[in-house]
Amino acid sequence: MPLRAKVASSVSRTAAALSRAAGRGDGSVIGGWIGLKIDPDLLAHLSAGRAIALVSGTNGKTTTTRLSAAAVGVLGRVATNSFGANMPTGHTSALAKAGSTPYAVLEVDEHYLAQVLEATEPHVVALLNLSRDQLDRAKEVAMMAQLWRAALVRHTDVRVVANADDPMVVWAATPPADPAQGVRPPHVTWFSAGQRWHDDSWVCPECGSTIQRSGEQWWCTGCPLRRPDAQWTVEDDGVLDPTGAWHKVTLQLPGKVNLGNAATALAVAAEFGVRPVDAVSRLHTVSSVAGRYAQVDRDGRNIRLLLAKNPASWLEAFDMADEAPTLLSINARDPDGLDTSWLFDVDFAPLRGRQVLITGDRAYDLAVRLDVNGVPFQHVRAFGEAVRAVPPGRLEVIANYTAFQDIRAELDRVN
Ligand SMILES: [Zn+2]
Repeated sequence: MPLRAKVASSVSRTAAALSRAAGRGDGSVIGGWIGLKIDPDLLAHLSAGRAIALVSGTNGKTTTTRLSAAAVGVLGRVATNSFGANMPTGHTSALAKAGSTPYAVLEVDEHYLAQVLEATEPHVVALLNLSRDQLDRAKEVAMMAQLWRAALVRHTDVRVVANADDPMVVWAATPPADPAQGVRPPHVTWFSAGQRWHDDSWVCPECGSTIQRSGEQWWCTGCPLRRPDAQWTVEDDGVLDPTGAWHKVTLQLPGKVNLGNAATALAVAAEFGVRPVDAVSRLHTVSSVAGRYAQVDRDGRNIRLLLAKNPASWLEAFDMADEAPTLLSINARDPDGLDTSWLFDVDFAPLRGRQVLITGDRAYDLAVRLDVNGVPFQHVRAFGEAVRAVPPGRLEVIANYTAFQDIRAELDRVN
């Protein structure tokens, strides 16, 4: 590395360590920020010589990054931004902290994918899904898909691992070839991770016609865009690889959505030459991810934490949660997005018949939604009150970002 980059990297590590020592989080944002101030090309310098995978999408990227890093770990040391700091400051900090590693797997905020592709020149990029998220400030889904597509046109060497079940992802991952401009079609490996949420992909991003669905298939009624055949699929409690071999997947993480994340991780690792048979046992080492899916025993209750930030992830959370008393907590602070109108995009009907408790800064917004949805509930002012209000046994907690962090703090920052 050039001298300037070495100094920047060293200062970045020190700043992050000081921030941690001062008890101000894990320091990855401030460390990366200072490093990039000293050397604006620091991320590119730290990426040089590493084989890198990027993981992006609206939902599941933190977990899929963790699973992919475990799978690629078959080959050697892997740098990763495991605290979910998924913008260039976080990537810079993660690589500076890891020192020299042959591999890196980085979670990337979907808005920054183009910038991070440019800086890191990855070997592979995994595209998980696109759905509405914080519409008071984030881009609409079709605009995100357009940004991704434009970014991939400039990086036709990168190997793409993409979700065949999401029409917006399929369209983004397949920009048209243009030999006159030197634009080759990208190399895409398709996985099928399922898509429970369809409300952001009824309209074809190519031609504006309706997208129709039947079983797992989908197709545009006005142009050739349709679901590609997936090479990696979830079958029963395992994953089918492109050769047709089935691998049983035993995870510590719940739900079919995490089996889909496991299939994605195996597909990412395969792009580095990792055989699924070698990687599959490593997926079991991933337990909770920054508190997500963590289980804590308190006063005879087994409390499980599920993070859900937007309509698509709430649907997945209902599917993962047991038929047990469920506490829902909603805040609308800056990291959550200030607008809670998305609660009306979520169908809470799956919770009927369960004991439902609500809390959080915006519990009353949730109360209105549940009332309209015909789901009885009880409001509690504090987490401890919820624990006392349910019988011994499982308590599922589903919360959005800062509400999740609040409850995690109550449980002594469980990981
Ligand atoms: Zn179309």
